[in-house]
Amino acid sequence: MSLDNMSATSRAGSGSHGSAAAQELSIPDLRAAIKGRVIAPGEPGYDESRTTFYGGFDRHPAVVVRAADANDVAHVVLLARETGMELAIRSGGHSSAGHSVSDGGIVLDLGDMRSLDIDPERHTAWAEAGLTTGEYTSAASAYGLATGFGDTGSVGIGGITLGGGFGYLARKYGLTIDDLLAAEIVTADGQILQVDAETYPDLFWAIRGGGGNFGVVTRFQYRLHDVDTIVGGMLLLPATPEVISGFVAAAEAAPDELSTIANVMVAPPFPFLPSEYHGQLIVMAMLVYAGEVEAGQRAIAPFRALTTPLADMVRSMHYPEIYPHEEGGYHPVGTARTLFVDSFDVQDAKLAIERLKQSTANMSVVQIRVLGGAMARVPDDATAFGYRQRRIMVNVATLYSPTDDASVHAAWVKDLSDALSKGSADAYVNFIGDEGAARVHDAYPQKTWDRLVAIKTRYDPTNLFHLNQNIPPSNGSAPL
Ligand code: FAD
Repeated sequence: MSLDNMSATSRAGSGSHGSAAAQELSIPDLRAAIKGRVIAPGEPGYDESRTTFYGGFDRHPAVVVRAADANDVAHVVLLARETGMELAIRSGGHSSAGHSVSDGGIVLDLGDMRSLDIDPERHTAWAEAGLTTGEYTSAASAYGLATGFGDTGSVGIGGITLGGGFGYLARKYGLTIDDLLAAEIVTADGQILQVDAETYPDLFWAIRGGGGNFGVVTRFQYRLHDVDTIVGGMLLLPATPEVISGFVAAAEAAPDELSTIANVMVAPPFPFLPSEYHGQLIVMAMLVYAGEVEAGQRAIAPFRALTTPLADMVRSMHYPEIYPHEEGGYHPVGTARTLFVDSFDVQDAKLAIERLKQSTANMSVVQIRVLGGAMARVPDDATAFGYRQRRIMVNVATLYSPTDDASVHAAWVKDLSDALSKGSADAYVNFIGDEGAARVHDAYPQKTWDRLVAIKTRYDPTNLFHLNQNIPPSNGSAPL
């Protein structure tokens, strides 16, 4: 397909991305050209594609295209270029910045592209970008195989992969991008490229951490690992400074097979938690030991020995069982700040407890993820995720009612995260919200940033793909 054979009406004068005379959107023409679904405002499916996991965004795109294949994607990319309309890319819709919906632009929803081709012999899989991490994980587990993603099954493979991907297999097998072998990507000029370490290596490097800045990925090829029965699940502990810092120390000392996520938070009224602990601060930890069961029980013993657990649901299980059941229709409103630290000691724990007690939000959490292991053995410059030597990721987050004064909760998040970060602004791009241009830079060391800008300038000089954690091209093109 070329720019010439696009059916649209000429409209001169409006600023468009790289064309002299911009064109108008014609929905009938678009319908005729697209194999997938074209959804106009008010039509069935429209609200579904403009609703994101997070609440608080009420944007109305001019059109939603639920693409059927890479040709559809290329057509929509060229349409955005010709019309100058803003383009939002949606995989699983979990962007906390609301980047997967445009107000007045085009939403390119990949949710109908969900084919998955697993090659159990070669331990590889080609996955279309509309799959969720939970769907991929369940399908791969039928072969006793897995690729590591995050902690929530409804997240799309698109967003999590392009930003890095930290989850329960990070210490054993690395980030999601460390298992990315190749991808199919539609670039800003509408070309459909196959990229890997040998073909378009610059682009392949950039999409492993640089987010959606370089094109629309339609398919990912991943490496799969033998992960069948794991030892894992939830461990609830009382949140004292000693338990929290002891947990961090145990997680750092643990074998690579063990990855942990510890949430220090007010206990919800879990039916499996004695009622006197409801409303008290607890450590709600998720643990996964990806290895042999007996060794897993030994690796988890130090966490159980920290104090008497309030609830202990760690057991041998089939890997996908680690993903909790999710209720549809849950659209929380919140604010958060992500940071990397190299220690989390008893003083940090005391501070976290003190501040959590002061928060007036419906839910506040300090999440601690001890890193290291396989993800730290990949050189910093091998991919566009460049903070592999940082030892711990901390996320300070609140969820609150939409009628609350959001600035109060934002101030709480800022004060606590500033205190815990000890002056470092380093950030994980996938946990950044709508925090401004400078914050995107914080997600990349300077050398990584410079390289990303050069690749962005080569492949997307007009910044067509700007509704994302944006890395602007060096000619300074600002979004429309
Ligand atoms: P979308 O909103 O669909 O996409 C986000 C952005 O990514 C898009 O705006 C676009 O810029 C880009 N994008 C998505 N797909 C494509 C594509 N195919 N081609 C080009 N660009 C694309 N992250 C972790 O690493 N580990 C976790 O454990 C983790 N847990 C999470 C739990 C929850 C409840 C939530 C809400 C988020 C979590 N995240 C985690 C963060 C998550 O990785 C990011 O929010 C990610 O961007 C979501 O991807 P998505 O496809 O669902 O989102």
